[in-house]
Amino acid sequence: MKQQMERLVLAARELGATNAAVIDVNKLVFSREFRHLCELNSCGRYGTNWTCPPGVGTLEELEGKIKKYDTGLLIQVVRQLEDSFDFEGMMKAKSDLEEVLEKVSIKIKKDFGYKDLFLLKAGACSICKECTYAIGEKCRFPEKAFPSVEACGIDVKELTTNCGIPYYNGKDTVSYVGVILFK
Ligand code: SF4
Repeated sequence: MKQQMERLVLAARELGATNAAVIDVNKLVFSREFRHLCELNSCGRYGTNWTCPPGVGTLEELEGKIKKYDTGLLIQVVRQLEDSFDFEGMMKAKSDLEEVLEKVSIKIKKDFGYKDLFLLKAGACSICKECTYAIGEKCRFPEKAFPSVEACGIDVKELTTNCGIPYYNGKDTVSYVGVILFK
């Protein structure tokens, strides 16, 4: 098992993760405080997307979904920005994380034999130009739309630090984190 997890981390790095680490799902902390940060709507996405509160479900519902898994793979993508206002660079880094999560998910299913995956992503889902949440219709791609780590009340800083991965990666860099849970 240990060797398999080491191979998984290596595979994630080969597929584009800047950093990767195996996490013990039983040690995750689901904090109302962090969920509350979503509810303060500093990103402006609260109530606009199926992967954000309240549409994504309650903290308890998400905790229940996550705790069906024992093991997860944390993936971090770090990118250099032109400066701290480089919004385009930030969006590109988020899209790079999505791409890595997709590639590693395929690898986990194909080469490691895990068939049941649940992902935690970074920020609101941006698959569709306009999310159907606003018009009260069902999600168009429920198999691809997953909650963000923050929406689940998980402290990303604590999560990365506990894995020995730096949360902050230097001046004018952006670091995005996602998790692939599998069984
Ligand atoms: S897939 Fe489309 S409808 Fe579903 S959460 Fe993402 S943006 Fe919204």
